[in-house]
Amino acid sequence: MAHSEKIVGRHMIGGWPVVVQRTLWPVEGASYDLLDGDTLGTLTMGESWDAYPTEQQMRIVLDDLHDGEAICCRSCQKRIYRDARRVGAAEPGSNPYCCCDCWDERLR
Ligand SMILES: [Zn+2]
Repeated sequence: MAHSEKIVGRHMIGGWPVVVQRTLWPVEGASYDLLDGDTLGTLTMGESWDAYPTEQQMRIVLDDLHDGEAICCRSCQKRIYRDARRVGAAEPGSNPYCCCDCWDERLR
């Protein structure tokens, strides 16, 4: 019996769309990989997870792959990979970036 692959979850992590793909193996059971939500290219090279990954586990993979500016959200402190919002009323010298989860139109 061949293995079968299925998309079992979609997430937006710091502005980076990703999908979780589950592969069912005839003997070993299931493994989980992280794919880019736009290209569906595999992001977990080498190691897969044995269980559905947590946001923290997904972020470790994205941290390694992301080569852009290292910016974090001023509110939740989490890393932003894409589509960082700028808070118009940020105090001088403070971090002006906000992730899309914490963003509120009133911050514009
Ligand atoms: Zn945030």
